[in-house]
Amino acid sequence: MKDLFSTALMRLTVVYVTVLIAVCLLFSGFIYTLASNEIDRTSRRQVVGFRNLLGRFIVDEQESEILRNQEADESRARLRAKLTLGNMAVIAAGTVFSYFFARRTLYPIEESVKAQERFTSDASHELRTPLAAMRTEIEVALRDPRLTTQEAKELLESNLEEVATLQLMTDNLLSLARNKELGEQKITELSRVLKSATKNHAPKIKKAGMTFEEKYQSGLKAMINKDALQQAVGILIDNSIKYAGNGAKIEVKLEECDGYGHLTISDNGIGIPDDQLECIFQRFYKVDYSRTSSKQQGHGLGLSIAQQLVVALRGRISARKNHRGGGIEFLIELPLLV
Ligand code: ADP
Repeated sequence: MKDLFSTALMRLTVVYVTVLIAVCLLFSGFIYTLASNEIDRTSRRQVVGFRNLLGRFIVDEQESEILRNQEADESRARLRAKLTLGNMAVIAAGTVFSYFFARRTLYPIEESVKAQERFTSDASHELRTPLAAMRTEIEVALRDPRLTTQEAKELLESNLEEVATLQLMTDNLLSLARNKELGEQKITELSRVLKSATKNHAPKIKKAGMTFEEKYQSGLKAMINKDALQQAVGILIDNSIKYAGNGAKIEVKLEECDGYGHLTISDNGIGIPDDQLECIFQRFYKVDYSRTSSKQQGHGLGLSIAQQLVVALRGRISARKNHRGGGIEFLIELPLLV
């Protein structure tokens, strides 16, 4: 990748310098032709002037012509030297500028290629771990001549769990790769979308022994794709279920604020350390809970998918400490229709 970038950088610099040289040569040629004509005209005028002043008998016509040519040649030589020096200075400075210009041009491409490489390597790493676990389990079981049907069943169940994890992860990766491909966008009443999103999660919330509260300002409309908003809200509620745990409370609220629908999803769970709040929307970022007792671990893709969806809906998403009772509060801001 580094070599590829260096080659591209060199090539682009060469292209810029070639264009600069071509422009310099054209410009110099033009200046030289103009100045050369002017030199001829001036020296001819001088000879005519002398001739008129001193009379034909004093000025030898042939000699004055030679003198005139000599002077004109000298002037042209001086002009050529100046133009060459000037061009060399411009091209030298231009080469340095071209190099920095080329770097600037290629910088976003380099960054996006690096991000893609990081993504591929993180994704392979995440996929490799459950695959390796499954392989070891299967190999150990196959080598055991006394494997009972019950043990084989348990192994298959454990593998099925890993397969489910892998499936979820590949679905998430696919969702990220589709990037911003939203379906149809319609004028939608936000509270309706939220009600159906939370309804889908009600059984899971109940099963997790959590309490749930929702409060929506009605009549707030936005031009959105409702599935995308439901998916984003679903990810945040799922996270609350996953990380806040038994006995915690989830709150979903919607209100209007300066032309935006402010949608907050909060819980009073373990929260996220302040120094990691900035990073949680990055792909594959997982909060380091080494300082707490939480054992929950995902793949670090949910919040980046939620952010991608919200941005595609022309909105913003952010996270902050939930000041009412600890935990975390996510805020989604969506532009409303007036
Ligand atoms: P994951 O699949 O790991 O849950 P996410 O992108 O959804 O990935 O979340 C990124 C990180 O943010 C996770 O490692 C998780 O620890 C933390 N996180 C997300 N939501 C919450 C929450 N409601 N409470 C505490 N931590 C959370």
